[in-house]
Amino acid sequence: MALPAQLPDNEAERLLSVRALISADGPSTPELEALVKLAKDVFTTPYAAVNIVDADWHRVACQVGIRTSECPRDISICSRVVFDNEVVVVPDLARHPELRDLPYVLGEPGFRSYAGAPVALEPGLPVGAFCLLDTEPREFSDREIANLMHFAEVASGLLRLQKANHVMGFAEEKLRLAAITDPMTGFYNRAALVSIVDGMLADAFSAQQTVGVLYMDMDGFKTINDTLGHPAGDDVLKQAAQRITECLGVQEIAVRMGGDEFAVFVPNLANADALAGLSERLVKRFRSPFAVGRHIVNARLSVGAALAPHAGSDRLSLLQAVDEALYEAKASGRDRFVLRSS
Ligand code: GH3
Ligand code: MG
Repeated sequence: MALPAQLPDNEAERLLSVRALISADGPSTPELEALVKLAKDVFTTPYAAVNIVDADWHRVACQVGIRTSECPRDISICSRVVFDNEVVVVPDLARHPELRDLPYVLGEPGFRSYAGAPVALEPGLPVGAFCLLDTEPREFSDREIANLMHFAEVASGLLRLQKANHVMGFAEEKLRLAAITDPMTGFYNRAALVSIVDGMLADAFSAQQTVGVLYMDMDGFKTINDTLGHPAGDDVLKQAAQRITECLGVQEIAVRMGGDEFAVFVPNLANADALAGLSERLVKRFRSPFAVGRHIVNARLSVGAALAPHAGSDRLSLLQAVDEALYEAKASGRDRFVLRSS
């Protein structure tokens, strides 16, 4: 093929820049579109675009005028701009020995001239080209080429801003998650009750599904702190969270309510027996002792369980039901579960 078969020396770094853009919900923005429209008017061409050159594919970030489709990199003239990292002008594509057979020159839409300037997020790493295509042969004056470079510079700035917004959004999402996560266990914390659990309950109830709710409190946990120290207690809490996780599926939501108390919300349970089965597995799982350094300690589990919507149809009434069931489990000897039937 006519276009550069080799890749730029810094292709791996260049592709990192490209991926940052492509993962950012599509690189087009209203500002980029306005800029491309302006270029089409200023240069009076039937087509103007910002195209991104990915590993194997030429992607359209933003185009106005004639619609073109994305194409393999090896037939993209913009990939030549990227390879050379400088302006490419072809006044008559039909007379160019290497380009005249390209499908969009020979066939529809019959492009005859091309001018493209590199667009980059970082110096020396072009991600694509700001390009103009015409269906007539056309010379570009030095002044027009300088203007095209200005357009490419502004487009580069817009793409850089977009990447920065994307990175910031990502950081915000991580912060949001950190705010509702308990760092010791990796479970949600109480703050997630409103933002996560209420949504899960609403979804389940609107789909006419049940939700199993468990409230758990370890038995005699304080003794571990008192005898082996707080760090040993922390170690046991982490292992406890691991044991709970092993008993759960992927849809279940586990919340550390504080101290040695955990709540679990299980969507779409078949019936109360399934909830009893899960409660039983959890209680049994805590019958094995915990190893903490050289020490072996015991901390069993009491569980209060209830099935929604029978036992309540909002978070507060459900938590009250399982809290009462947990109290019964503790009062009747610990190391067991109590299931509230209504
Ligand atoms: P019960 O059998 O009645 O549940 O009693 P318990 O000994 O398990 O004690 P309880 O559940 O009443 O209290 C839990 C204790 O956990 C109280 C608190 O000092 C301790 N605790 C709370 N948060 C942490 C923590 O993050 N790390 C450690 N190591 N201990 C904690
Ligand atoms: Mg306890």
